[in-house]
Amino acid sequence: MALDLKVNGQRPAVEAGPAIPSEVDMAQLERIFRTLKSATGEPAVPDHAARQARLKALEHLLLENAAALSEAVSRDFGNRSIHETQLLEVFPALQAVRGAQKHLRSWMKPRRGWASMWFLPARTQLRFQPLGLVGIIVPWNYPVLLAIGPLVAALAAGNRAMIKMSELTPHAGELLAALVGRYFSSGQLAVVNGGPATGKAFASLPFDHLLFTGSTAVGRHVMRAAAENLTPVTLELGGKSPAIVGTDFPISVAAERIIFGKCLNAGQTCIAPDYVLLPKGSETQFITAARAAVGRFYPLLRDNPDYTNIIDDRHAQRLAGYLQDARAKGAVVIEINPAGEDLSACRKIAPALVTRVNDGMRIMQDEIFGPLLPLLSYESLDEAIGYVNNHPRPLALYYFSNAGPSVERVLNETTAGGVTVNETLLHISQENLPFGGVGPSGMGHYHGRFGFETLSKQKAVFYQSRLNGLKLFWPPFGKRFEGLIRLLLR
Ligand code: NAD
Repeated sequence: MALDLKVNGQRPAVEAGPAIPSEVDMAQLERIFRTLKSATGEPAVPDHAARQARLKALEHLLLENAAALSEAVSRDFGNRSIHETQLLEVFPALQAVRGAQKHLRSWMKPRRGWASMWFLPARTQLRFQPLGLVGIIVPWNYPVLLAIGPLVAALAAGNRAMIKMSELTPHAGELLAALVGRYFSSGQLAVVNGGPATGKAFASLPFDHLLFTGSTAVGRHVMRAAAENLTPVTLELGGKSPAIVGTDFPISVAAERIIFGKCLNAGQTCIAPDYVLLPKGSETQFITAARAAVGRFYPLLRDNPDYTNIIDDRHAQRLAGYLQDARAKGAVVIEINPAGEDLSACRKIAPALVTRVNDGMRIMQDEIFGPLLPLLSYESLDEAIGYVNNHPRPLALYYFSNAGPSVERVLNETTAGGVTVNETLLHISQENLPFGGVGPSGMGHYHGRFGFETLSKQKAVFYQSRLNGLKLFWPPFGKRFEGLIRLLLR
């Protein structure tokens, strides 16, 4: 059986090239797991100073290797804009690790309170304890951020962690494994690389918590595997995130903001706007403005390092298949290729707007995860809200409007993991907001304090007071008890 684990500590040089076979060595996986589980050489409950030291090590890892990590991700994509990696992966990962260092002491502090009225003067306390060993499964689209983000939460909460990177980002995975071996001990943290077989074996290990980021389909497998061990899961999944443009909002402003959010990472973003709901009659204006925005952002596509590749041929074919299927079923595809370049040899797909779509088309069924943007129109806000609510609950929703009551309506009457009003994507960057989906787009939350809490055991403690009235409820239950219980049950 070929070995597909690349474990920290085993590779002397960070520039080691990737070689990712597709089989899993279960024995080696279990060995790494056991080392981490037994916390060899590590305190079972790291104190504030120990956690700060780990977070500081992670900050150093990021700062000292940002360029190498960006380069590795770009090699995995064929071309991933270095600037996008800096803006969308390194910067938010740094924000997360610095935010955790800044707030760690207050997060760790037990929260004291008074007991409920009938139990006074007793006191209560909520303590935060490490869970132990957290498993983190990472997708390919933002490999650095989606490994480091959950890791920050795991380390802040005092856990050890084992990370499984995606088979589609072998350079980033290899580099991270090697770096982790340099900055962390093998009893604190390990990174393994491999494909679905490794993922399957990984998810079957009895972690104390599993945080999976990836597709809804694989999320189901992960949850099933975790159920065997009663391992709690946080599932950060995907789905079709709508953008609704309100009737009062300038269409051209909405168009350029939506195009910006859609074209970053060539649309391969879990919270990228998937489709747009436009007020009836505004389609042409939207198309004109979207065309102009693409032309400004990416005057060239083919050799433009700012415009990211599709990750691999399979995904490029999947996206081309959506367009073919939509065309065959009556849709109109408006490709925006500002310089009219031939993209056939470069695994880049030009941004495309797709009109006259319906739910019978694959582009309206699957998460698109690429630079294709279907446009639908609505006659009333009721209709737009109804469309969203008749489809699986999305990870993100975008609403463009300055009319307070209609914003309130959309916020109240739709359900989504998170919402950004008058922009796209930005709710994910707020460390004081929880990030996570709902239903098929995910389960549980992390980021900032929410990640710390998710990956801590929140232990409830009741301190009985010296003076207390519980004796009044001791058996034998006589008249006094009956009088009291009548009072309680009033
Ligand atoms: P994926 O589900 O195919 O793979 C994710 C990870 O799971 C990979 O490491 C893969 O090797 C592993 N895996 C595959 N089969 C497995 C199995 N049976 N058991 C355990 N692990 C297994 O997802 P992807 O293609 O890498 O990423 C794209 C998807 O991720 C999109 O749906 C996107 O919306 C979603 N995503 C969500 C978020 C979020 O924060 N909610 C962020 C990024 C991506």
